Amino acid sequence: MRPISGELVYIAGMTARKHLKALLAYCTFLVCMVLVYAKLFQYLMLHLEGREFSFIAGIYWVLTVMTTLGFGDITFHTDAGYVFAGIVTLSGMVFLLILLPFGIISLFLAPWIENSLRYNPLLEVPERTRDHVVICGLDPVTRALVSKLQVRGIPFFLVLSNYDEVRRLEEDEGIRAVYGDPSDAGVLLKLRADRARHIILNLGDKENVNIILTVRSLCTTPIAALLDEPCHAELFHLAGASQVIPLKRILGRYLATRATTKGAFAHVLDSFGKLLIAELPVHGTPFSGRTLKDAHIREQTGLAVVGIWERGKIIIPNRETLLSEQSVIVVVGTRENLETLEKLIGELPGQDMVMIIGHGRVGCSSAGFLEHWSVPFVLIDRVANPDCGEHEAVIGDATSRTILKGAAIDRAEGLIATTNDDSANILFTLASRHLNRHLRIVARANREENVTQLYTAGADFVVSNTSVGSNILMNILDNKDSIFLSEGMHIFRHPVPEAMHDKTIRSCRIREITGATIIALERGRKEEPTIIPPPDTVITRDMTLILIGSPEQETRCRELLH
Ligand code: ADP
Ligand code: ZN
Repeated sequence: MRPISGELVYIAGMTARKHLKALLAYCTFLVCMVLVYAKLFQYLMLHLEGREFSFIAGIYWVLTVMTTLGFGDITFHTDAGYVFAGIVTLSGMVFLLILLPFGIISLFLAPWIENSLRYNPLLEVPERTRDHVVICGLDPVTRALVSKLQVRGIPFFLVLSNYDEVRRLEEDEGIRAVYGDPSDAGVLLKLRADRARHIILNLGDKENVNIILTVRSLCTTPIAALLDEPCHAELFHLAGASQVIPLKRILGRYLATRATTKGAFAHVLDSFGKLLIAELPVHGTPFSGRTLKDAHIREQTGLAVVGIWERGKIIIPNRETLLSEQSVIVVVGTRENLETLEKLIGELPGQDMVMIIGHGRVGCSSAGFLEHWSVPFVLIDRVANPDCGEHEAVIGDATSRTILKGAAIDRAEGLIATTNDDSANILFTLASRHLNRHLRIVARANREENVTQLYTAGADFVVSNTSVGSNILMNILDNKDSIFLSEGMHIFRHPVPEAMHDKTIRSCRIREITGATIIALERGRKEEPTIIPPPDTVITRDMTLILIGSPEQETRCRELLH
């Protein structure tokens, strides 16, 4: 689609040209009228009053009469002359003093004022713009990204093809977006896409592929694209995307990881080389009700507890931190450590039962993940998912107790509420908590403002689309190799600073300097990492530090540890 404002200017130009023609015709008519009156004046003066005047004097007389100036130096003295003078005065008033200004105001002045008051969207970024982020598409994820970029002072330009949306964004939120269709090469050039630091695509899959191809025909700027259908990932890569983010699949996996209660591997959130990061609910384990010191998790399994979730808040624990029934521990360790844990807990994933409400792309991804780890599950959806040939769902509205009971909610250990409707997710959470007090409820929040309500309704864990999506994008922009645990908590790598080569961890005082905590030391990605190295461990140049901390602590590491 071509930008409409360009068309408006074009139309305005056309109209102005038409109006100018009408004005010229009218002026010609006025000139003719003056000439005819001047000729008549000459004729009448000569034949009525026997006085002879030049044609120029005639024009002079007509103009002074028509403009009602009437100097009175040349006047008629006969009745017929007075009548003629009256007619000239009247036609002067009508054609010269009324119609002419009226025409000029309505045809030229009013449209000009209207045009200058009309909203003029931004059609291109300033000439010298560089190292900016171009964001195509506005939804809660890109909105959250915009807020993060604003806080960090990183220049960005949103490009939207909806005129009203551009206008509303500027008038209501003060964000000046560029108006245009990003699949148009001309618009991309106006966005200085070739000099941008990154291009973020968050439109439909087809539009995204189209834009990727257009960008690649112009420049090599990195492109990060959010993907709706995981099966399109290959296409995105083929078209030339640098990073493809299957957000719905990631959300599905995060939900499933956090809804399972049995076994260990189905809790693995991510991996960092050979290091696995898992989130394990304390409920039902021998660790419940003990302090971290008394639970002896490290001693028994080799796993290090690096964080504890308590109803949506993550804390860095110390040895005295109490593990409650609701706590979820974030552990890091190797595959072997997790196997030891599984044996210790004595529960296998097959003994679990998770109910998934909503068989959209996110629900389907959760189901796929659980299937992979042999965790039994039941899917409920109002309608069958035509894109999934692998899972069968119980068809029915999950807001109905009969449906929930029929799907054996009383036997379920975990529940994933993952419809695209937050109010429905709040309802399921409330109803399910009422029907099964011990259920582990994990809910998806489509809008950030519903996170608190979901926790209040009884959810044990809420995964927010917005927060996961915007953090992944921010990590990509920062070129970070890090894992996002929650808003405010990351696990990241950092090279050993030169000044710290061959020194002990204690003497480096990394925590005192940056606030971040070393959770492991890595020597090449293939080798076993050293988890929670003791303070007297000597760090050498061939090691990489793996740390946990807030984004600010991570920034401090990058700034202070060279
Ligand atoms: P996404 O692809 O982001 O997961 P979708 O809109 O495709 O989102 O999927 C949401 C799913 O949730 C749909 O299949 C819809 O039928 C289902 N759903 C919505 N409300 C209910 C409900 N009250 N009971 C059961 N399923 C529901
Ligand atoms: Zn499915």
